[in-house]
Amino acid sequence: MNICIIGTGYVGLCTGVGLASRGHKVFCVDIDSGKVDKINRGQAPIYEDGLEEMLQKVLEDDKIKATTDLKEAISETDICFISVPTPSMQDGSIELKYIKRVAEDVGSVLKNLDKYYVVVVKSTIVPGTTEDAVKPLIEQASGKSAGNGFGICMNPEFLREGYALKDFLNPDRIIIGQDDSKAGDVVNQVYSGFQAPIMRTNIKTAEMIKYTANSLLATKISFSNEIGNVCKKLGIDVYDVMKGVGMDNRISEKFLGAGCGFGGSCFPKDVAALAARAEKLGVNPMLLRQVLETNRNQKSVLVEQLKTSIDDLQGKKIAVLGLAFNPNTDDIRESPAIEIISRLKEIGANVIAYDPKASENMRAIFPDINYADNVKDALKEADACLIITAWDEFKNLSDDDFGLMRGNVIIEGRKVLKYENVKSFQGICW
Ligand code: NAD
Repeated sequence: MNICIIGTGYVGLCTGVGLASRGHKVFCVDIDSGKVDKINRGQAPIYEDGLEEMLQKVLEDDKIKATTDLKEAISETDICFISVPTPSMQDGSIELKYIKRVAEDVGSVLKNLDKYYVVVVKSTIVPGTTEDAVKPLIEQASGKSAGNGFGICMNPEFLREGYALKDFLNPDRIIIGQDDSKAGDVVNQVYSGFQAPIMRTNIKTAEMIKYTANSLLATKISFSNEIGNVCKKLGIDVYDVMKGVGMDNRISEKFLGAGCGFGGSCFPKDVAALAARAEKLGVNPMLLRQVLETNRNQKSVLVEQLKTSIDDLQGKKIAVLGLAFNPNTDDIRESPAIEIISRLKEIGANVIAYDPKASENMRAIFPDINYADNVKDALKEADACLIITAWDEFKNLSDDDFGLMRGNVIIEGRKVLKYENVKSFQGICW
């Protein structure tokens, strides 16, 4: 099929490259001409494992093209997926200006299009938004009604950053929220060949499935962190506890990893958006609010532990290992490292940060801290070391590396070190 993807960020580009690798012809549209040029040159504007290599392959096969020209991309295709940002606003509700603009732009192109076309929302938007905001804007701008001139669907994305391409190509399930079955059939066709169950439902339910899944995963993490804080006081390793708990197949061991909290562009934003929506509907989202509050607190635990280990942090050199919110990505949105570095700066510590992929992004937020080119340079003469992201590269650190430090305080915010290689360390919850 010929497919248009609008927005070439983490979701859009991985969707585009993934679908192109399955033989579809893909047109990726973005308003950022710099990104478009990079994609056409075979350079992924973001870091995701395997993305650049697969992008180059599909470019060679002439299966993908990036453009800023929405009209051209829609004219050449039968279906578009909208994957533009839906960031948080001050009160936690989501900013709809990007998706509304796309809805109007798509509608204007559909006005003069002489064929049936399916518009699919892939951005995460709160239940009711596709039907109450996106659909009417397309109808207004196109002068056509949904179900006749065009079809509308909602197809939430569940990929994890760091594993985005792999997750997109091997999903646990595909959810298609449809306005009518003709439109849903076209989306279904896009995914033919994917080895995953497909659930077809109405649009509002599809939107709610995405929020519920992310809120439940975030809840598991905050729950594990709270249990972890109790375990720490009791001298118990929370990972052993969760191993035993997760063996219960009603629970599963996934997302029970305690640490210094969740970040990223999805969990904090999506839980906040669902809570804000619940409040508007007159439902008090006590649990959702607490999940966020527990997460906020967890980011300070590491710094509090450091303060207990070193009396006066003023001028002390603190190596911060890991800046991305997850390993295998360069994304720092809502990364716990941001809060931790801010706290260290407030205290007057001298931060030296290292991340295999995310240092450049963090430099935009903290231009005034030091960045090391490798782990060893970060550790040299450091008084303490904090491990924030579970990069594979940190797994093999040993006493030989930590021996480069002046001090001996090593605090882990993720359980990544191999403890047979490191004599003295503290875990945040173990
Ligand atoms: P992103 O910020 O990485 O990328 C968004 C892209 O959209 C940018 O390249 C931007 O230039 C482009 N854009 C903005 N306005 C545009 C317009 N009018 N026309 C064309 N392009 C435009 O965003 P993302 O992380 O890929 O997230 C996109 C959506 O998917 C969000 O709703 C997010 O909540 C959801 N989502 C994200 C993830 C994730 O892990 N990042 C996972 C599932 C769902």
